[in-house]
Amino acid sequence: MTHVGLPATLELFAARGLVYFFDYLTLRKSLSHAISENLRSMSNTTSPKVIITGAGPAGAVLAFLLSRAGISTTLIERHKDFSREFRGELLMPSGLEPLHQIGLWEDFEKVGQVEIERFRIFINRKPFVTPLVNPAKVAKRSPRWVSQPQLLEMLVKKAADFPNFTLLRGTRVKNLLQESDHVIGVTTDTHGKLRSDLVVGCDGRTSIVRAKSGIQAQADTLPMDIVWLKLRCQPRNVTHSVHFYIGRGRLVIVAPTYDGCVQVGFIIPKGSFKTLRELGTKALVELITRYLDAEVAETLLSADFGDARPFLLSTVADRADEWSGPGMLLLGDAAHTMSPVGGQGLNIAIRDAIVAANHLIPALEKPVDTDGLLAVCQGNERERMNEVVPIQTMQARGPKIMLNESIWMRAAFSVAQKIGSGREIDASFDPNFQQMLMGVTSVRWQTEI
Ligand SMILES: Cc1cc2nc3c(=O)[nH]c(=O)nc-3n(C[C@H](O)[C@H](O)[C@H](O)COP(=O)(O)OP(=O)(O)OC[C@H]3O[C@@H](n4cnc5c(N)ncnc54)[C@H](O)[C@@H]3O)c2cc1C
Repeated sequence: MTHVGLPATLELFAARGLVYFFDYLTLRKSLSHAISENLRSMSNTTSPKVIITGAGPAGAVLAFLLSRAGISTTLIERHKDFSREFRGELLMPSGLEPLHQIGLWEDFEKVGQVEIERFRIFINRKPFVTPLVNPAKVAKRSPRWVSQPQLLEMLVKKAADFPNFTLLRGTRVKNLLQESDHVIGVTTDTHGKLRSDLVVGCDGRTSIVRAKSGIQAQADTLPMDIVWLKLRCQPRNVTHSVHFYIGRGRLVIVAPTYDGCVQVGFIIPKGSFKTLRELGTKALVELITRYLDAEVAETLLSADFGDARPFLLSTVADRADEWSGPGMLLLGDAAHTMSPVGGQGLNIAIRDAIVAANHLIPALEKPVDTDGLLAVCQGNERERMNEVVPIQTMQARGPKIMLNESIWMRAAFSVAQKIGSGREIDASFDPNFQQMLMGVTSVRWQTEI
């Protein structure tokens, strides 16, 4: 008996295997062709031109401007509403003026806010200087302490006036969709894959767009954290003013809120919050009042501590190495996380959105060419760097001076306080202060409303 059966069976298996393999290749090719055709047709019919991740101030302003210009825009926000956490609430003239330019002033005035007429600066609990924000002299509009949730709600409501605007609330962007290194959309937890010509990451300090694009960032080391606390008490002696208390290695900010409460920010050495929280709210407020003048201390101590919830904002300041790539752009904190010094984050985010819209609208009105769009995004980055870098440099200097407890600095503070002794001055007295109020570059909305 010859054993011819085995090789013959092997040949048969090999031949079948080859057939299956070619079938598989053909099937895979036709499937992938069908998928990409499908995606292409989605892009032509239903896909928005722009997906914006994150409805913070940068994302909401940009979405409003693009939608109004007739560009189909989808704004994706992971939260169902905007009231979940405290955010920067100080709007400087640098953020107010652009809101006026884009035609939202009337709507903005209906947002909960307190007009700030003066900043009162104290050193070692004694008045140092009181910069006045006289609208006629220093800025057209004085700063406002606003309700950020109401501001964001107003912005998305205005964007919703345009049929090409879609807001996906309660939807989280999970990843970027990429095709040969080009970003072509995002994947989400509730709506699956969504395609667009451009993805704009406005998703803040923990930006998923930045992380998934692989763009690196350079971080500044900051020696401080900030504890925020809203107290239910009559803001008797802080109406229309924001107080800054410097000295003994701490900085305390006290401001009136739109709903008749007082917002307190307590700057502490990094990593010391755990011990402070263990004190309980009342003891924490008592500790804070040791840095305040007697009148404001009394106001805070009269508060109802029942519903006060101190929380920590871990301060971060960084700047992404690049703000764009093929099919994507970063704006606001996603591109450059702002330290809380000088209340700049909200203002810079609004200014970023205005400048980006100036660059993007003309480019997106035409059929999109990815290389051309990338060049436009890079132009936007160059323009914004001229403001973001100097502001971040000023912000980094502040804590080094204010939290310095050396004997020399204490002596300098003491002399400065005696010279200033609470006098009222023009808020433009100092070029750095002026830039924090008015911005560094000229941001102008360029399109006709
Ligand atoms: C707790 C806190 C307190 C702050 N306090 C101050 C202050 O006192 N003064 C000051 O000047 N600045 C402060 N800032 C910073 C300031 O709020 C920011 O600089 C400013 O809001 C930046 O705006 P933005 O639009 O770039 O980002 P953000 O305002 O951070 O908005 C980002 C949005 O993206 C959403 N998002 C994030 N990830 C996803 C995702 N994967 N999918 C969908 N949506 C997503 C978020 O929910 C958020 O709504 C604070 C920030 C925080 C977080």
